[in-house]
Amino acid sequence: MTVNAALLNAIASGELKVVDLTETLCPEYPTISLPPEFGQASPMVINEISRYNESGPMWYWNNFTISEHTGTHFDAPAHWISGKDVENGTVDLVAPERFIAGVNVVDCSKEAAADQDFILSKQFLLDWEAEHGQIEANSWVFMRTDWRKIVSPDNWTNTDAEGQAHHPGPDEECVLWMIEERDVLGFGTECVGTDAGIGFSFDPPLPCHYHMHGAGKYGLQCMTNLDQLPEKGAVIVAPPLKIRDGSGSPLRVLALVP
Ligand code: MN
Repeated sequence: MTVNAALLNAIASGELKVVDLTETLCPEYPTISLPPEFGQASPMVINEISRYNESGPMWYWNNFTISEHTGTHFDAPAHWISGKDVENGTVDLVAPERFIAGVNVVDCSKEAAADQDFILSKQFLLDWEAEHGQIEANSWVFMRTDWRKIVSPDNWTNTDAEGQAHHPGPDEECVLWMIEERDVLGFGTECVGTDAGIGFSFDPPLPCHYHMHGAGKYGLQCMTNLDQLPEKGAVIVAPPLKIRDGSGSPLRVLALVP
């Protein structure tokens, strides 16, 4: 049997389950908001072209507007100033085999429930490896927080009255270790960004964006259903839209789970 036939058989028989890690895109989906002096990401805007009516009696279709970083989305190296000169650093130029990779799912759900500003450390990942095995080169690290169960769906960016966001993320030492000692493909999260909400106050600010993208690595954020994945053994299929010179893109993220 060819590998492709084995793959199709495994999906058809249910031996391999396909888990959708994607949030539903809609106009209400919350976008990250930056301090008011900066430009802002557009939420999704949908305009109907026709729906079996005068504008198109037999067909239904919409126009939509969206930022590259709204909903479940992919961050390319060019998203950050540190990655602006990375070769093939925009979504259209990333080699397609990079969009299919293994994943290490690090369960931080208890810690995130106890502390919405939980900071993922190198030691936490070393302890995780002692239990589950080493993080392989060119694989994803996903931080599982079960974020949708922790925060209100009306405010899952979890911004307080002062405009400060609160959600978990890694510190600089953890990010540098993932890059330099494990050569990961990138870092993924269920929160609104790969950095902690309080990461603007770190040095450098937002170290996950700064170092990961500077090293030519990727980000995935606003995912869900990470609680349906094993710590190791799933394969992630995550190809962003092929936007010319794009810094990122909404996408469908699928996991193949044995
Ligand atoms: Mn982004």
